Amino acid sequence: DAKRSGRRMARVFDESMDEDIRFRRRVESGLGEAIANNELSLVFQPIVSRESIEVVGFEALLRWNTMAYGPISPGLFMPIAEESNLIHDLGDWVLRNALAVLTQWPGQYVSVNFSPRQFRRHHFVDYVSESVRRAGVDPSRLQIEITETAIFDDAERAAETLGALRRMGFRIALDDFGTGYSSLHNIRTFALDCLKIDRSFIEGMGRERESAAIVHSIISLGRALGIGVIAEGVETEAQVQALRLAGASHLQGFFFSHPVPAAMARTMAETRAIGGDPAAAPRAMA
Ligand code: C2E
Ligand code: MG
Ligand code: MG
Ligand code: MG
Repeated sequence: DAKRSGRRMARVFDESMDEDIRFRRRVESGLGEAIANNELSLVFQPIVSRESIEVVGFEALLRWNTMAYGPISPGLFMPIAEESNLIHDLGDWVLRNALAVLTQWPGQYVSVNFSPRQFRRHHFVDYVSESVRRAGVDPSRLQIEITETAIFDDAERAAETLGALRRMGFRIALDDFGTGYSSLHNIRTFALDCLKIDRSFIEGMGRERESAAIVHSIISLGRALGIGVIAEGVETEAQVQALRLAGASHLQGFFFSHPVPAAMARTMAETRAIGGDPAAAPRAMA
């Protein structure tokens, strides 16, 4: 009967909650050891210019290869890290290692993701500027990627932080744009270099008028503000053509390259070409 099945459901729910909590604890304790155990690495995904498909920068993406369970995706462990203090150690590790790799590239920038808690921490500006100074890197070669969540809770303070970073020469990108709670009014007051259109809109573009409309309006907004627009998650030739027509300034996605290890990224940086071979015409140019 209904009562009994309700009870059964409640029990299943409890068990899956337990399961969930146990999983989170395992992730937390594993992440706490991940740096010492050498389980972290960075991969780099090229960002290319719309027309010439020149590699202008790379997004650094964190990878965690656990001894016990194999690779675990950042989409899964970053939110758990973000809810604990682990985010700060992980974030430090990412920034330090991304800057070390960057010094081996000729002129491109590295785009590093900063979580809302990292961004809102006191002395964030000093922390980042001190990090690049120690690495001997020019601030213009670090792009700071933050999401709307990081800046819209306390828009006034965020605007100050972004303004200070921009005056020091850092690049600022608003990641996953369109999925958060941006108000257009606020966008105007933020010192930004580019908007990154969330992958979900690129993916939906060929199927739904709504996604295509959102992609077009983000590109128009970027143009009106005089800033760049990077389309993320570009997987097909049709998307490349549509985004070129729409006027996105830069493209990033599996169509061009998956995220690659540092050594491969270096080859792409030196040749400014996907796959490291400038003679091989990029597929997108065909
Ligand atoms: P994100 O910053 O939006 O990064 C883009 C994600 O899309 C990456 O997933 C990338 O591998 C994936 N991607 C790129 N091109 C394509 C494509 O054509 N198709 C598909 N299906 N996916 C594509 P990844 O590496 O799994 O990272 C997921 C998220 O985890 C990131 O989203 C970011 O929010 C977070 N993350 C990763 N590394 C870091 C980090 O070092 N620090 C922080 N705070 N967050 C990170
Ligand atoms: Mg990102
Ligand atoms: Mg993104
Ligand atoms: Mg994301």
